[in-house]
Amino acid sequence: MKSMISLMAAAAISVASFAMPAFAQDKGTVGIAMPTKSSARWIDDGNNIVKQLEDAGYGTDLQYADDDIPNQLSQIENMVTKGVKVLVVASIDGTTLSDVLQQAHDAGVKVIAYDRLIRDSANVDYYATFDNFQVGVLQATSLVDALGLKDGKGPFNIELFGGSPDDNNAFFFYDGAMSVLQPYIDSGKLVVKSGQTGMDKVGTLRWDGAVAQARMDNLLSAYYTDARVDAVLSPYDGLSIGILSSLKGVGYGTPEQPMPFVSGQDAEVPSVKSILAGEQYSTIFKDTRELAKVTVGMVNAVLEGKEPEINDTKTYDNGVKVVPSYLLKPVAVDKSNWKQVLVDSGYYTEDQVAN
Ligand code: BGC
Repeated sequence: MKSMISLMAAAAISVASFAMPAFAQDKGTVGIAMPTKSSARWIDDGNNIVKQLEDAGYGTDLQYADDDIPNQLSQIENMVTKGVKVLVVASIDGTTLSDVLQQAHDAGVKVIAYDRLIRDSANVDYYATFDNFQVGVLQATSLVDALGLKDGKGPFNIELFGGSPDDNNAFFFYDGAMSVLQPYIDSGKLVVKSGQTGMDKVGTLRWDGAVAQARMDNLLSAYYTDARVDAVLSPYDGLSIGILSSLKGVGYGTPEQPMPFVSGQDAEVPSVKSILAGEQYSTIFKDTRELAKVTVGMVNAVLEGKEPEINDTKTYDNGVKVVPSYLLKPVAVDKSNWKQVLVDSGYYTEDQVAN
């Protein structure tokens, strides 16, 4: 009986220590608010930041909000109440955090926007992200190159997908892509048969792959029963997977009817496998280890009262202020360079992504 009780007590203690955020005594705790676990990239982001912060002697409180805005708000409120020193926030809707960030500011908490800009608040101290416009440029350039547009080929049919309209990044990706595609659309070398252009028409709320798949189904049945779609601009691997299944559903992906060139983002494992299988054409690799490193550098600096390293002071106007930023470089990945970029860098093992 006694051993049973102590076993139960031990189990309770280990459950408690597992569920409790790791609050370090010395350097203080950093609250990390992530949007969702439904995409592997955010899981990698969370793990990388926690590891690097803990190695640097901080405690961490990492929370995922299941893409639910009220949930993210209350998670951040709790972090402030518990006395975190710094908040690192990858927001779901970049416009909804003003009140809780005011509370954070009043409590002396520094705020770093992680990957996604937090809009409409003066209380965002720094922004760590990738060059989001360049992500779109790379996505579109991979399609243009694959189609041979620079060699004068064409015209080709293309359809466009955008990211979530409540994510500031989605506009940067779209604008970057259109900076490359628009001249070809204007010259008639690229044709958007649906006529659907602009983020208000092509945005995909919450980056939902099922929504993209349903929209692709509609596009195919309304505009492509007697025409071929040659390329699809997709801003994120999770959407690309939905778009590809829609295309497969109407017979694309055979020698007679090859897949259109479809872009993506994040180099998630299912998409890398899809690229190796000759389905998705390209993706964009954003090294979340590097983003974590930049973020941890910012945390160290703000807590030591120093100016963090930034490399951009003009791009990210959040509606109230231009947030000083550090932009990392995204890298385009396709069948020609996946091994060098993803495996040689140690991001994945070959076994993880091989089919
Ligand atoms: C990120 C992308 C990601 C997308 C969907 C964006 O804010 O920058 O890397 O593909 O969200 O999760």
